[in-house]
Amino acid sequence: MNVQCAFDVCVAELRATGMRDLIVFCQDCRCSHNGKLTADYVDRWPDDVRLSELEPWFVCKACGKRGAIFRGCREETMMAVGR
Ligand SMILES: [Zn+2]
Repeated sequence: MNVQCAFDVCVAELRATGMRDLIVFCQDCRCSHNGKLTADYVDRWPDDVRLSELEPWFVCKACGKRGAIFRGCREETMMAVGR
């Protein structure tokens, strides 16, 4: 799985990869504000919800636009799983 691409996976599939932290980017490329979603936050999502369903619910704190793009937080994930 190429986690650099936007994923369309459900939360259960995300957890199965060991990916728990996510970086969320503003959908507007001119803004490109981003922030981290911690594992604590992601853990509260139900297993059967798809990331593509959650993305439209995020509102950018910088420009106020609705819609986000999730990316896997790979380096931290690698540290966490020790690979
Ligand atoms: Zn923005």
